[in-house]
Amino acid sequence: KARKRFGQNFLHDHGVIRRIVACIGPKKGQRLVEIGPGKGALTEGIISVTERMDVVELDRDLIPILKVNLFRYPDLTVHEADAMKFDFTSLATDEQSIRVVGNLPYNISTPLIFHLLSQASAIEDMHFMLQKEVVDRLAARPGDSLYGRLSVMAQYYCAVESLFIVGPESFDPAPKVDSAIVRMTPYNTLPFPVEDIKKLEDVVRIGFQQRRKTLRNNYKGVLDNNDFAALDIDPGLRPERLDVGDFVRIANYVLKKDV
Ligand code: SAM
Repeated sequence: KARKRFGQNFLHDHGVIRRIVACIGPKKGQRLVEIGPGKGALTEGIISVTERMDVVELDRDLIPILKVNLFRYPDLTVHEADAMKFDFTSLATDEQSIRVVGNLPYNISTPLIFHLLSQASAIEDMHFMLQKEVVDRLAARPGDSLYGRLSVMAQYYCAVESLFIVGPESFDPAPKVDSAIVRMTPYNTLPFPVEDIKKLEDVVRIGFQQRRKTLRNNYKGVLDNNDFAALDIDPGLRPERLDVGDFVRIANYVLKKDV
């Protein structure tokens, strides 16, 4: 029986599973890592090509089922662990980065994505099934209604593409909302590097504290009119107008000012 506290909605639609695997495009020898394999719905489509795979599953009761379903694949490594605490960089080497996939437990998807972004340098790409609204947030551009902290931080590290929508009927049990597949590809060279990532996180959080207010309001006590002039940013704008490069400029500016 599916467990709600582990965010379990198992995929049973083979057409959708095939489509996801086609988007991932696994190749023999690549290092694929799956978060929350469950009973192995996605796992088999991947490991049948790559021949080896690491999976991270928290629900220990599912692991024997998974092992029985995938008994044909001796190079499946099952980590019984919490993905929120898992060190994904330990699976990458200097020569080979990892590709991360998963139909993620929706209750922890946002913090889990932040956890993965902090390890982006070890990751070649990520393909996730998420609540459609979370995919829309990840992929939102300046000016979109869902553009916010998650969009800026994801797009600081990654190119983000929303791939396709999956309806509730493809899962057992059916979730209440639509889902979607997202691809996130970390940049080899960051387009807008910040000197201290903590400062960017602060600046973005403060900027979006009240998204209907102006930048002048949100950055009161942090930036004054002279600072906005030096940055060439109109303080009368709302935060949703700034792109990743603008937030990085603010963060680097504040870092210099603080010294
Ligand atoms: N991949 C399977 C599928 O598509 O049918 C299951 C997907 S289900 C939405 C989410 C899976 O993540 C479940 O197997 C659940 O037990 C597992 N899970 C939940 N929390 C987890 C965590 N913190 N770390 C690792 N796995 C977790």
